[in-house]
Amino acid sequence: MSTITAPVPPPAPDESPKIRGVESVPPRMLFWQRVAMVAIVTVPLLGLAAALWWGYGNGISAVDVGLLLGFYVFTGLGITAGFHRLLTHKSFKAPTWLRVVFAVAGSMAVQGSVIDWVATHRRHHAYSDQAGDPHSPHLEPDEGVVAMLKGMWHAHVGWMFDDDATKAETWAPDLLNEPAMVKVSQMFGWLVLATFLLPAVLGGLLTMSLTGAVTGFLWGALVRIFVLHHVTWSINSVCHVFGTRPFDSKDEARNNAPMALLGFGEGWHNAHHAFPASARHGLRWWEVDVSWMLIRTLQVLRVVRDVKVPSKTQIERRVMRVKAES
Ligand SMILES: [Zn+2]
Ligand SMILES: [Zn+2]
Repeated sequence: MSTITAPVPPPAPDESPKIRGVESVPPRMLFWQRVAMVAIVTVPLLGLAAALWWGYGNGISAVDVGLLLGFYVFTGLGITAGFHRLLTHKSFKAPTWLRVVFAVAGSMAVQGSVIDWVATHRRHHAYSDQAGDPHSPHLEPDEGVVAMLKGMWHAHVGWMFDDDATKAETWAPDLLNEPAMVKVSQMFGWLVLATFLLPAVLGGLLTMSLTGAVTGFLWGALVRIFVLHHVTWSINSVCHVFGTRPFDSKDEARNNAPMALLGFGEGWHNAHHAFPASARHGLRWWEVDVSWMLIRTLQVLRVVRDVKVPSKTQIERRVMRVKAES
């Protein structure tokens, strides 16, 4: 006895390789997510316009400058040394209290909860400038200046409106298993409220005036968030397009000195993609890296330990390979 079976067609070539750890956002949630993103992009911009308008007639007080710089440094280092080098890449070890301080400071930069931020950034490294990278400027099918600008827009803010979400279960299971990080993630909404209110309260108390509270809010909260947002987003857009590539990083990541100065060392982005586990991004002596200065100081003070940096040989090997190929 024999059975007749239809010939089995060969499997279709898998043109889009499966991207790990991504889920689509349900339409209803997507709507509100996009409303929140519009607010996150436009409210600080309106704050900047209001601060400049007010400052044009009245100048800017020393208290406002202090609030702007103080909150910029605190929340900026929370992102660079905390969210990025400590929690995403595990480039050094810190006691729980310091992990919490970094996680709180980074959350107050209003760039998403700590676990979501870490998950998204790990996915960026896993697929850097390939399909699956949440914010590469190089995924446009066309060539030319318009395609480049479209790609940069996507890498800067456009990607935040995408309908896919990075699954924390896949990309950040370590943090999901750390009660302190889960707690800080759950408190994200309160920390966002605090980052807006604290500069206003401090501005009011330090000047004992309502005007001081209003201008403290404008400069210490809205302008500070505007500048830090665009500096961080420029690491994704500018630093994958403009700059030098001294190391073989297997993607388009670039070293960009102005972005490194504004972003506390994060602009040495080619070095970072070549050595993602390194706590130091400015690998050459003249490459100022404020986040590294903080980590190194904490290491000397024995607050943090197991600080990872590439050896001289490892660095030279990466430089040599670029030279050999060119
Ligand atoms: Zn990158
Ligand atoms: Zn990274």
